[in-house]
Order: sequence, then structure tokens, then C-alpha cells
Amino acid sequence: MSGADEPELAVGADAFTERGAGLEVAVVGAGAVGATAAYDLASEGADVTLYDRESVASDATGRAAGICYDAFADGLDAEIANGALERFRAFSGDDTFPFVECPYVWLAREDDADRADAIREQVRHMQDNDVVAFEMDGDALGERFAALRTDDIAVAGVAGGAGYTDPARYTACLAAAATGAGATLETDTPVEVRTDPPRVVRPDGAVHEVDAVLVAAGSRTKALLADAGLSIAMKPYRVQALVADGDLAEPMCYDATGDFYLRPHPDGFLAGDGTEEREADPDAYDRGADPNFAADLSERLTHRVPTVADSDLERAWAGLCTATPDRDPLVGALEDGLYVATGFQGHGFMRAPAIGERIAEEILGGSGIDAFDPTRFDGDETFDVVEGMTLDRD
Ligand SMILES: Cc1cc2nc3c(=O)[nH]c(=O)nc-3n(C[C@H](O)[C@H](O)[C@H](O)COP(=O)(O)OP(=O)(O)OC[C@H]3O[C@@H](n4cnc5c(N)ncnc54)[C@H](O)[C@@H]3O)c2cc1C
Repeated sequence: MSGADEPELAVGADAFTERGAGLEVAVVGAGAVGATAAYDLASEGADVTLYDRESVASDATGRAAGICYDAFADGLDAEIANGALERFRAFSGDDTFPFVECPYVWLAREDDADRADAIREQVRHMQDNDVVAFEMDGDALGERFAALRTDDIAVAGVAGGAGYTDPARYTACLAAAATGAGATLETDTPVEVRTDPPRVVRPDGAVHEVDAVLVAAGSRTKALLADAGLSIAMKPYRVQALVADGDLAEPMCYDATGDFYLRPHPDGFLAGDGTEEREADPDAYDRGADPNFAADLSERLTHRVPTVADSDLERAWAGLCTATPDRDPLVGALEDGLYVATGFQGHGFMRAPAIGERIAEEILGGSGIDAFDPTRFDGDETFDVVEGMTLDRD
């Protein structure tokens, strides 16, 4: 590391260009997505200010489980997730943040034929898209992963391109690298967004007029844009997670029938579920876990991973994810000079290194991601919040 606040990421000097020279950009939100975009924009010579209403990674990113994989059945999703994994691996290290390689297993029980079929189909699609994923029955899974109880498993998918990290540390690293590349970081600065011309208004009323504004404000993105007269089809929803002591070295696992996930954690293991399939208010939601959350999860966890029986709960919490009508994110230009990145359905952290890079590329004049074009919706659509971790994606 060259200085306490300026990590050198594993990119060569050749990666830095002046493509963004003369371009002034305000990035609203120093979560994983905004910090990555700020880094990529600043690395290309853009004059970047990264604003956060609180501190770096103070919202969803700081509450995320840090599970990362490229096990997506859809080709574009897999490509983006794979690009993100490559960057996690390249940027991680002793002086930046840890990235721990760990296989990802998702499974369905014998009495759950629909989900078992969905897993088999997903694995086929993944293999078609060159994702390292394969199918295992319960016996084979038990031989490979001694920690898992497997006698009731119909089928599992196993993905090799996977691992976990500390989301807050990744994001702090990218924000620091952005400032190292010339960006200005303004924390404790809740801004408002205005359009035509694109600008942000600081709390003291000062107006910062720029060439482009990127709104990567997580669950607050919709309200922020609504104040600027722009509607997006996104709804925040609440999810919960916990850390407990207990013995788990591998794998990361999503029990689709039991509706929970878990991964190894330096303090034991991290597990989550408890999605509320209704719109939450970012200003009013309960940031603590429900009183019965840990107890409800405990029986299902212990069933699947007997070694975590009698674990002591270290902490539990809630945070907000963001849903869209088609469960694909909204990433791209809403209008001239006004860009958005939100709606990641609980998979925003693992994709942030690639999404930040791609939205930076679009702001610099490159092409966007057509499938994620935020204007594919009018913004006034009626839709239900559907949990991110489900199996019925194509
Ligand atoms: C419990 C839980 C577990 C999760 N687990 C995973 C996981 O394992 N893997 C995964 O991929 N995803 C996971 N997610 C989802 C993931 O957290 C999000 O998709 C991702 O962090 C979104 O990043 P972001 O940068 O878009 O938003 P955020 O991290 O929410 O960042 C937005 C930032 O904008 C700032 N902001 C808001 N309004 C303003 C304003 N007016 N002015 C200035 N700044 C503003 C906020 O303070 C915040 O720091 C999980 C989420 C939760 C809650």
C-alpha cells in the first residue's frame, strides 16, 4: 500500500488513461457500486466527487453477507458476475481486503421436486455458458462436503467460481483507491439531485454542476430521483442475517427448500433469510433483526449443518435490498447526464466490481448494458417484491 488511504490495486499503470479528462462527475452513494464506479472513473482521468450521506459502506453494503459467485443461469448475469470475481481476486490481498475462495452449493430436498428440477436446469444453462458448475446427488455431496447433512437431498448444484469477502473492507479499499486516483470523497454529505443540467445540491445549498451524476444510493435511490422528478421501477425490501460461532470451513450453501443461506465467517458462520416480500421505507425500517429471527433459523441450520448445533449468536441485523419488476437491475442513463445503478435483488455486492466498471464505461461514452437499461420501465409499474435468492430465474 502506498499510503494509509491509498491502496494500490493490482492494475498496471497502463490501466490508467485520460479518457475521462475534462469530465466532471458526481457519484451519489459510497456503497460498493458507487465506490467502484468512482474508482474506475477517476482512474480514467475524470474529475470525480463521491458523496455519501453518512460514511463509506454505511448502508446495504456494510450489512451484506459478502457471498460472491458466478453461478447464474443467464449468460449476461454469468458474464458480469465472472468479471466481478476476476476483479475481487485481482484487487484482494494482505493490504487491501480478503477474498476467500470457497465453493458455492445450492440444493433442494427430496420432497421438493420443482426446485430440484430447477437446479438441474440451471446447471445445464450454466454449463452452456461456461460457468464452472455441476450437479451432485446427496451421496456425492456428502462425500465432498462432510459438514453437510445430505441424506434428504435430491440434487445440488456446485459452483467452483465462488468465494466470500468483507463487503465493507472491499468498499473502503475502492473508495480509498478512488481518492488515490484523484477523486474527492465527501462523507456526511446528504445531497439532492437535480437534472437539466445535471447537478447535486449539497446540504448547505451549494450547487455542484457536473457533466454527469451517477445515483448509486441503494434503497434511497427511488426517493432521491423522485425529488428530481424522475420515477424508477424499484422497491426496497428488508432482509435479515446473523453471525454465530460454530464450526464451518466450507462450503457456502443455499438451501432452497429450507430458504436460508450460510457461509463460513471469521467468527464462526454467517447465515441469512427472513426476507419480507413487501416494500420497506429506508427512513423507517427496523435495522435490528426480529426477536425470533435467530431462533426460527436455528432449527433449519442445525438440520443442514449439524456441527453448528448449540452455536452462540454473536449478532443479528436487518438491511434493505432493492427489487425491480423483472428482477434485473436498473443500470444506465435515465436521461442526458443522469445515470442510475440500483435494483440488484440481493446480488448487488457480488456484481459491484463489474457493474461499477460498466457504468463508468457508459459515462465515459461507451455502450451500456441494454438488458439493464433503466428506461425499459416507465417507473409507475405495479409489481410484487420477490425475494432475490430463488430458483426460478432463467
Ligand atoms: C443482510 C444482507 C445480506 C446481503 N448479502 C449479499 C451477498 O451475500 N451478496 C451480494 O451480492 N449482495 C448481498 N446483499 C445485497 C447488497 O448489500 C446490495 O445489493 C449492495 O450492497 C448494493 O450496493 P450499493 O452500492 O448499490 O448500495 P448501498 O450499499 O446501499 O450504498 C448506497 C449509499 O448511498 C448513500 N446515500 C443514500 N442517499 C444519499 C444521499 N442523498 N446523498 C449521499 N449519499 C446517499 C448511502 O449512505 C449508502 O452508503 C445483501 C444485503 C443485505 C441487507
